[in-house]
Amino acid sequence: MMHFSQVVLVPGDPILGLMEAFRADPRPGKLDLGVGVYKDPQGITPVLASVKQAERRLLASETSKSYIGGHGDPLFAQRLTQLVLATDSPLIATQRAAATQTPGGTGALRLAADFIGHCLPGKGIWLSDPTWPIHQTLFAEAGLAVNHYPYVNADNCLDVEALLETLGRVPHGDVVLLHACCHNPSGFDLSQADWRRVLAVVQARELLPLIDFAYQGFGDGLEADAWAVRLFAETLPEVLITSSCSKNFGLYRERTGALIVCASSLERLSAVRSQLALIARNLWSTPPAHGAAVVAQILEDVELKNLWITEVDAMRQRIAALRLGLLEALAPHGLAERFAHLATQRGMFSYTGLSPAQVLRLREDSGVYLVGDGRANVAGLAEARLGDLARALAQVCN
Ligand code: PMP
Repeated sequence: MMHFSQVVLVPGDPILGLMEAFRADPRPGKLDLGVGVYKDPQGITPVLASVKQAERRLLASETSKSYIGGHGDPLFAQRLTQLVLATDSPLIATQRAAATQTPGGTGALRLAADFIGHCLPGKGIWLSDPTWPIHQTLFAEAGLAVNHYPYVNADNCLDVEALLETLGRVPHGDVVLLHACCHNPSGFDLSQADWRRVLAVVQARELLPLIDFAYQGFGDGLEADAWAVRLFAETLPEVLITSSCSKNFGLYRERTGALIVCASSLERLSAVRSQLALIARNLWSTPPAHGAAVVAQILEDVELKNLWITEVDAMRQRIAALRLGLLEALAPHGLAERFAHLATQRGMFSYTGLSPAQVLRLREDSGVYLVGDGRANVAGLAEARLGDLARALAQVCN
């Protein structure tokens, strides 16, 4: 009997497939704006200097490779919670918030999904349209009913009114996933006034917010980007936050993140955490240690932390400069207005508003690789190539 004869071949992940197609493309002038990683002017996704220093210290001081507990490294959990909620957060002072270390932000989302599925049965989840495609498949895999609220309209603009109108009709008590900053894939973020309006609807309909915080430091700064997260955590009795250290610490492959739970009392928090440990035990048992140990070292040491902040600031400022640089390069082609959103969008991505056919033409004619929905990873650009990209865009837009 051939057991595997019944297994059908499925297409791979489109974004990772794009990476492979890019590698196989022999054209020297090709440009990879697909997968969401930051690249320096040399096209390299660097190991941060603060991370290298922390790793050197760890190598010298580490004495054991024994398992870490189900919630992970306690120092990492404590320091990351402070980074997200603020060191002087009233939630931390009253022991109403704590983090469970997970394999990256994806692991945190999966843990949250299984927690909702196991412990809060019947709750649907509401995702922005568009959103990071894995949100869709991950929550469906966990057995949750997945629904959408509008976010970007047909003119490629943020549509807050449509968002609020739909949230106002969401069944009482459902879960709503919100991108804390640097919305993936659109790059459009809510203003503080918008966030307050979303908060009012969340309160009125008693929704449970699940805030995906994958880009702290890449929007307006480490503190500024946490503004909405902190507003929600301090106003609402219960909030779930998924935090990723992939981008801001450049630890992508080390799989470092956390699910932060904010609850109304220590007792409730402990009950939730007991469930999380049980669920995690059946998913990955205990989380990988290295990335979290690096983050803990950095956040614990004033000198290393300051170096890291400088590095995050530099990455953010460079991405912002690339956005403006691309806009400038597009102006001579008469496309400044068409791409004006580049300047207002935040984070690594820009929703270009290009159609799938235009994305395909860009790839075939110019070797420029974008995700099919028109998302461009601006953080993957090199200053020296902005003119080439503007020319390629002009070819498909004009
Ligand atoms: N959420 C969003 C919105 C993301 O863009 C990503 C990374 N692409 C993640 C979560 C997951 O990040 P990680 O690599 O840490 O799993």
